[in-house]
Amino acid sequence: MVLRIVVGLVLTVAAFALAGRRLWWLARVGRSGQPAPERIAAVRSHPARDAEVEATEVIGQRKLLKWTVPGLAHAFTFWGFIVLLLTIIEAYGDLFSRTFAIPGIGHWAWVGFIEDLFAVGVLAGIITFAIIRLRSNPEREGRKSRFAGSHTGAAWLVLGMIFLVIATLLLYRGAQINTGVFPYAHGAFASQIVGHWLHPLGTGVNSVLEVVFLLAQLAVVLGFLVFVTYSKHLHIITAPINVLFSRRPNALRGLEPMRSNGKVLDFEEADPDTDVFGLGKIEDFSWKGMLDMATCTECGRCQSQCPAWATGKPLSPKQVILDLRDHALAKAPYLLADSDEAREKLPDAVKFEAGRPLVGTEAEHGVIDPDVIWSCTNCGACVEECPVDIEHIDHIDGMRRHQVLIESAFPTEASGMLKNLENKGDPWGMGANRRLAWAEELDFEVPVADGTLDPEVEYLFWVGCAGALEDRARKTTKAIATLLHSAGVNFAVLGPAETCTGDPARRMGNEFVYSMLAQQNIETLNETGLAAGAGKTIVASCPHCFNTIANEYPQLGGNYEVVHHTQLLAKLVEQGKITPVTAVEEKITYHDPCFLGRHNKVFTPPREIMEQVPGVQAQEMHRCKNRGFCCGAGGARMWMEERIGKRINTERIDEALTTDPDTISTGCPYCLVMLGDAVAAKKASGEAKDTLEVVDVAQVLARSIQPPAPPADAAPPAAPAAPAPADQPTG
Ligand code: SF4
Ligand code: SF4
Repeated sequence: MVLRIVVGLVLTVAAFALAGRRLWWLARVGRSGQPAPERIAAVRSHPARDAEVEATEVIGQRKLLKWTVPGLAHAFTFWGFIVLLLTIIEAYGDLFSRTFAIPGIGHWAWVGFIEDLFAVGVLAGIITFAIIRLRSNPEREGRKSRFAGSHTGAAWLVLGMIFLVIATLLLYRGAQINTGVFPYAHGAFASQIVGHWLHPLGTGVNSVLEVVFLLAQLAVVLGFLVFVTYSKHLHIITAPINVLFSRRPNALRGLEPMRSNGKVLDFEEADPDTDVFGLGKIEDFSWKGMLDMATCTECGRCQSQCPAWATGKPLSPKQVILDLRDHALAKAPYLLADSDEAREKLPDAVKFEAGRPLVGTEAEHGVIDPDVIWSCTNCGACVEECPVDIEHIDHIDGMRRHQVLIESAFPTEASGMLKNLENKGDPWGMGANRRLAWAEELDFEVPVADGTLDPEVEYLFWVGCAGALEDRARKTTKAIATLLHSAGVNFAVLGPAETCTGDPARRMGNEFVYSMLAQQNIETLNETGLAAGAGKTIVASCPHCFNTIANEYPQLGGNYEVVHHTQLLAKLVEQGKITPVTAVEEKITYHDPCFLGRHNKVFTPPREIMEQVPGVQAQEMHRCKNRGFCCGAGGARMWMEERIGKRINTERIDEALTTDPDTISTGCPYCLVMLGDAVAAKKASGEAKDTLEVVDVAQVLARSIQPPAPPADAAPPAAPAAPAPADQPTG
């Protein structure tokens, strides 16, 4: 008895010392990052919301369960380990007294049953994980495997350790049954089965097995505890903390402002020599960024949904996090050294690591290759999918910010767009005087705001640069204006007073140009009387404008009511102010724009509009709604060449073509252009029918408010039911 107590306690003290030392060191590494007071303030100000998030995401495993089989396997393993805390209490009790039982509940049959049920559940979970890993073996599947790039050896080791935890548990409990000290007379069915197997060995052997497997159980559990702190399984400890401090809603919608030392950067006073300008080195990440790195489970869900990875580009959101983590850990002795002298004495490998550029090519020994950060479309699929709320976009765009603002290093073809934004206020450099050309092509007058809006104007139609200046997007603009006019909506546009929202500059990393444009727009919008509470709403046709005005302008003091045009049009249809009458006999598949759908959760209104149009046969693509696949234009990718891998828009159109559509609809001018280009290429190569077209949902609706064409031999109708759209798409 004394020996087992001594062995058990020595193992415990050693394991806690090793794990504690490692955790303390990791905490110091995390604290070497930038402060993030806004994260702490957010948790303090929303304790109820955060408790709910912990309950649903951590305890309820909400995001994990989106993937049914691996989700259930993880849930059983996770819940199993919580329930099995009871068996660990019992194991420690048994160290001191063979007849130990948890006070109060220690002999209740249902407690023994629950313990065994979850022990078996954990076994089923790890068998499922093993099958999943064998079926998705990266050595065989290559990039298609979500485990490509993960540390698979460590994952197998953990599965083995978990198996040993359960095996030793059931073996020592089975032996206890045979020696007559097991606390549960009934209920512990799995332990009873194992006891039945061990019974022929006799009481003497079972007494030995009881001690051996009890100590083995403690040794495996404690070994697992230490291993956790040195491996990706650290997420067992960090995931609840990471989820607690993650951005709501999940780092989607707007980007965060640039911060230095925890304070929002003021460009008028900021000094690049002393302030942090984006993420230029690992210690520029906040402690929350470092926590993200420590929390990655290497599950590869983000990678499996990433359009850049799916089309053969070097960007894997998982690999970004893993490379940052490896670098942070390798550089940690340098970060934690308290003097230059101490740093000088560090091993050469650490000094080499400290000298690596955060973003740089292989020849420069960069941690992250420039092609990686510039491949990102900011689509948000990674953030949406990540079960532990890692914020990939913030990190990628943070690195872009440093590259653009400090290194002036970015894809050269995007420099024209940035110059045009600075000089002309739109990415094409066409200038303000072209912004109303579309309105001249309509057969009614579009009111243009001049100073404060008239009290009776309900909506300011934010047309956007593409909507005003790009030929295909202008058709959408005219369709929306026509629909609003026909519904009797009192609206106005800003015309030449509108300028780019700054989204392409911000997503490129040029926060300076973004804030210049944003402040100019906020001034205009405030002068026009749009501030929240004024009873007026901005209706934006471009999801990027919508996202920027609704979610990013508040950071600069611009607070407005903003809706997307599909939301307003769906409401007008529902209210009977727009009545689709003419059948549009087409099979239509809808492409979710990332910044409308995944970023802002507007999935239903565009679909509702199409449902109301007679004749439309809606056909969903396999990847739709929050699993929608990007068109390739977000994250300022619209203005960059796509030199590596398959074009993202081609991949999307290949998927759309599997539904054999007559029309592909969407709700974004960027998507319209990208998908339209891919369809044109497919038509040219004979892979798509000549009649296939890409249109905005507003254009579909506009077609159906025209009166039906009369039969050839019928008399013409007396009057049209509604003004006809001035310009219908021709494909
Ligand atoms: S935002 Fe989209 S493109 Fe960028 S890393 Fe995430 S999934 Fe990939
Ligand atoms: S970042 Fe999230 S989704 Fe991606 S591998 Fe890590 S834990 Fe999984």
